Amino acid sequence: MINANRYDKMVYRRCGHSGILLPALSLGLWHNFGKVDNYENSKEMILTAFNLGITHFDLANNYGPPYGSAEETFGRVLKEDLKGYRDELLISTKAGWDMWPGPYGNFGSRKYLIASLDQSLKRMGLDYVDIFYSHRRDPETPLEETMGALASTVHQGKALYVGISSYNALDTKKAATILKNMGVPCLIHQPSYSMMNRWIEEGLTDVLRQEGIGSIAFCPLDQGLLTSKYLDGTIPEGSRASKEYSYLSAESITSELLDKIRKLNEVAKRRGQTLAQMALAWTLREGGVTSALIGASHKAQIEENVKALDNLEFSREELIMIDHIVKG
Ligand code: NDP
Repeated sequence: MINANRYDKMVYRRCGHSGILLPALSLGLWHNFGKVDNYENSKEMILTAFNLGITHFDLANNYGPPYGSAEETFGRVLKEDLKGYRDELLISTKAGWDMWPGPYGNFGSRKYLIASLDQSLKRMGLDYVDIFYSHRRDPETPLEETMGALASTVHQGKALYVGISSYNALDTKKAATILKNMGVPCLIHQPSYSMMNRWIEEGLTDVLRQEGIGSIAFCPLDQGLLTSKYLDGTIPEGSRASKEYSYLSAESITSELLDKIRKLNEVAKRRGQTLAQMALAWTLREGGVTSALIGASHKAQIEENVKALDNLEFSREELIMIDHIVKG
């Protein structure tokens, strides 16, 4: 059932100098939406998000496992449960990391990007995506070629907008200029960003502001570290850190890191928020990013995380305290 009041509470924020409004929270399908995962649970998360006003769903060619299967899952939900809602959805996909064998299934060539988007469209059952990204900068391929491929997808009507992910400040500036000269402005940058990971503050944020490019922060919860999940020092069964094919290893959760997380949790409690809610509010604070791109393994997490929007304000003292804890 689709909730008629789904737009009442979500906050929408303008993406750079564009006509697009992004929900303050967007949902990414990197983990927990593959063929290996429970389809009913994946579907429930997508529908829960949409019913809470999350209009933006972020995918990539190789999300799964196996590669491609998160797009298939999303395509099935679109067909069976969200039929008739395409124009209320902002759907993105990407190419740039390994996807298929041989020299044309990875990195940033025109050959790879164009073929990959065609495959993504088929898997999702779509005529076009709203945003097509270059998933990473390929230093071996001329930037003009990668940006030219993105622009072509717009000219071909297969993407409405284009974006780049994890490009550094200098390459972002160059990419933005190339795209502008081709009449296809760069809508958005997708970098990693969280209380613990602040690389974008070293130049990229300034470039995005100057160029009028919006931003969507991936891993704002540091893959689940910035939640109550690991606070007691154990690795819960089924959590990302417990899974073989994840990028969060149990070994990376050191006692030093846990000490910081517990201190951050105390700050969150004083704000009347869970740690996850505070981490998201921090990412979205003034001077932060346009949208925080969360992942989830269960619908309850999405419901909890959306409540972060009830308090996005931080006092100076709270910000200083958080910096102090994080910098150790
Ligand atoms: P997050 O940092 O939001 O981590 C999500 C994980 O945190 C969930 O899977 C869940 O882990 C846990 N979690 C979420 N909410 C809660 C909660 N309230 N309480 C307890 N645990 C919670 O982001 P992701 O790492 O999932 O990345 C988000 C999206 O960003 C991806 O889906 C993808 O779209 C994009 N991305 C883009 C990249 C790029 O290169 N452009 C790279 C990586 C991600 P658990 O499974 O343990 O329950």
